[in-house]
Amino acid sequence: MLHEQIDLAIAEREAWVLRRQLGTPNNRQLWVLACMDERLPVEEVLGIKPGDAHVSRNAGGLVTDDALRSAVLTTNFFGSKEIIVVNHTECGMLSATNEFIAQALRTKYLLDSSTLPLDPAIPDLGYFPDEKAFTQWFRMFDNVDDTTEKQVQILRDYPLIPKDVKIHGYVYEVETGRLRKPHKTLSNRVNTAQQTGARS
Ligand code: ZN
Repeated sequence: MLHEQIDLAIAEREAWVLRRQLGTPNNRQLWVLACMDERLPVEEVLGIKPGDAHVSRNAGGLVTDDALRSAVLTTNFFGSKEIIVVNHTECGMLSATNEFIAQALRTKYLLDSSTLPLDPAIPDLGYFPDEKAFTQWFRMFDNVDDTTEKQVQILRDYPLIPKDVKIHGYVYEVETGRLRKPHKTLSNRVNTAQQTGARS
């Protein structure tokens, strides 16, 4: 009967809307941290669908203060049991140094970073303590594999993330459209002749 289908659809919609109130986690109990880059289609890359995960994205897919805030909330209060970090090759964060970015902004805005709020929404957090801190804040990097491993380690070590949460990181190769583990480049394993000697 049609009314049964309609009632079911209404009930499903209610359950969807009220997920946080009901304590229902996302489908995969998963929090994903990924770079904001448009060449990284996170859901497609991970093979997940809408509803499957909480997803945080920022420049580089780095464990920033705000990423940590999201991670702490989703793993302690919203039911996430797994974390996946996705960084990627040819990331914009590889294209300059912290010093270059900081200096460019200082020049552009005639900026004294000691007058710059750390978080304008929370004045109590104060201002950047010095130029060094402002420079480090950008967190540009020069090795995506090392960076991925480091983000995983930071999350594993963070006291406010439960120890039973599984945390892993992957590098998405924009050039091949594939994920790999950090420092596990398949081409290095395919071309083994030099390592093992030619076999006949
Ligand atoms: Zn990126």
